[in-house]
Amino acid sequence: MACVIVWFRRDFRLTDNPALQAAAESGYPCLPVYIHDPAAEGDWAPGAASNWWRHHSLQALGDALAERGLGLVIRHGPAGDALANLIAETGAVAVHWNRLYEPALIARDTAIKSRLRDNGVSAVSHNAALLYEPWTIRTGSGTDYRAFTPFWRACQRTQEPPAPSPEPRLTAGASADGVTITDLGLLPRIRWDHGLATNWQPGEKGAQRRLDRFLDDGVSAYETARDQPAINGTSGLSPHLHFGEIGPRQIRTATLSALTHADEDADQSAQAFLAEIGWREFAHHVLYHHPDFPDQPLNARFADFPWRADPEPLLRAWQRGETGFPIVDAGMRQLWQTGWMHNRVRMIVGSLLVKNARIPWQTGERWFWDTLVDADLASNSLGWQWVAGSGADAAPFFRIFNPIRQGERFDPQGSFVAHWVPEIAGLPAKHRHAPWQAPAGVCRDAGVQLGHNYPRPVVDLQASRKEALAAFEQIKGSSGGG
Ligand SMILES: Cc1cc2nc3c(=O)[nH]c(=O)nc-3n(C[C@H](O)[C@H](O)[C@H](O)COP(=O)(O)OP(=O)(O)OC[C@H]3O[C@@H](n4cnc5c(N)ncnc54)[C@H](O)[C@@H]3O)c2cc1C
Repeated sequence: MACVIVWFRRDFRLTDNPALQAAAESGYPCLPVYIHDPAAEGDWAPGAASNWWRHHSLQALGDALAERGLGLVIRHGPAGDALANLIAETGAVAVHWNRLYEPALIARDTAIKSRLRDNGVSAVSHNAALLYEPWTIRTGSGTDYRAFTPFWRACQRTQEPPAPSPEPRLTAGASADGVTITDLGLLPRIRWDHGLATNWQPGEKGAQRRLDRFLDDGVSAYETARDQPAINGTSGLSPHLHFGEIGPRQIRTATLSALTHADEDADQSAQAFLAEIGWREFAHHVLYHHPDFPDQPLNARFADFPWRADPEPLLRAWQRGETGFPIVDAGMRQLWQTGWMHNRVRMIVGSLLVKNARIPWQTGERWFWDTLVDADLASNSLGWQWVAGSGADAAPFFRIFNPIRQGERFDPQGSFVAHWVPEIAGLPAKHRHAPWQAPAGVCRDAGVQLGHNYPRPVVDLQASRKEALAAFEQIKGSSGGG
């Protein structure tokens, strides 16, 4: 029996899903398909934490479809071939999917679209992931934007994004063989994922629950709370957004309607939250217009930056959360245990790695890629190039975060560091961000033995700062390119 294929990729939801909506409107039975094709992502195949999420998200999607009488068909291998086989087996007349924006996937999908059309099969792509398509926002002179504020203003001047669509009524009746989710081997063989499972609920229901909770008691204080890692001041929606378990149109519409009777402060807070959704849009805009952005500095003179010749042992200390700077170690351990790190702390750990340790930003980007459940090519590159000072609207290189001052400012009670770095939790709050500066007796009373149960700082902050600035001087006048 003829059918229409909905090719799920990273849009694991039934509501506000234009590809699914289009399939439902066709009137044909719908065949939901997922094809595992990590090789298509080239150098940026998903990392371990991301794979963990994908496994559970697929499980949730499969369950939701099953409740509606549809079976999610799972295949693996090159997606073009898998689709061709499915079409031959089922007589499908059309394939619908929602667009992805990673350069390697754009190339793959473009080729698949031509191949399908050449074979007389309708192939239609839709927008589920963004408020504004990256190519629709242009400066007055027709170029792409490199600064966030004018980009976001330009977005707001364009046509309003469409309202999110409700879950469509799907016609069952199409089926095909496939493998199981477990066959994809996405879960780690050594089970380090306990912390992930206790912190997250992948899937559309988990996403909706997080949004509801955030709109109930988070968004009105977001502007002040968002910079404090010790409290749940942000939405925690990033992995759900990355996997398309919720879309930005849904978040925008729900946020605006939650604010109907809000006061001015709450309104301002909500705008600040929506601007962060705007940073996600900006990241996609930059990646779309600069496909080598994940690997190459946007500001070309950074290609000549004199990085440290041998990153070890600093890199390992950083990855393990054993740098001796509690705010950095707390962030790196939060990342390892939960697959997520607070945005403020991402900036602090990044600054220590790239500036004080002079280890290339791409090295930090790779570590995040493997360990973050929200690892996203666009946002991760933007974040790391922001930290390095080489990106779009980036922090200037000479602004080097001091982890002690950052800790004192954004975690004044030291409760974030005490939670993640229990070795120093016995210290009074005022010493928790610089244990090596605490008097010997205070350390003794707190059970802190520097160099034994907690490391001394792996770099000298003042000296490494000077070295970083001197290194920056070397490239200031260069035009880049080696
Ligand atoms: C070095 C570095 C690496 C990063 N890597 C990633 C990554 O791989 N994936 C990722 O989603 N974000 C990344 N970010 C951005 C940001 O840290 C996370 O999006 C945010 O911490 C997610 O938490 P949340 O959902 O509670 O955010 P909220 O504060 O609740 O923000 C809401 C949403 O806005 C988006 N957002 C917020 N801040 C940013 C930002 N600076 N850039 C782009 N989008 C943003 C996210 O989708 C987020 O879910 C990175 C930032 C830095 C400094």
